[in-house]
Amino acid sequence: MLEEDLQVAKKKLLEEEAIVHAELADLGFTEDGKVDIHLDEGFADAAQTTSERARVLSLAEGLQQRLEDVQAALVRIEAGTYGKCEGCGNNIPPERLEAIPAAKLCITCKSKIKR
Ligand SMILES: [Zn+2]
Repeated sequence: MLEEDLQVAKKKLLEEEAIVHAELADLGFTEDGKVDIHLDEGFADAAQTTSERARVLSLAEGLQQRLEDVQAALVRIEAGTYGKCEGCGNNIPPERLEAIPAAKLCITCKSKIKR
């Protein structure tokens, strides 16, 4: 990849990282990944509190996955392997990287993996 394209990707990834960090913080997660959810203790309805907690945890799980992907992409930029598919080793199409800067698989490999 061109150096300038890498810089653009890096900037996007850092922005994404900051956004995800902020969203996690909003949910009550600290930067080192510790859970510190403060739910309203005045909640009389325990069931509602439990479902709220489950909702927050599943949201946070998605965010943490995004964060991992973004941080892994930043590592690949430093390592010089950014933009290569981890499945087949081919270059990931630039338009895919533009849409999803943290993409680590080409569309073909992605479609083979279910998670
Ligand atoms: Zn691939």
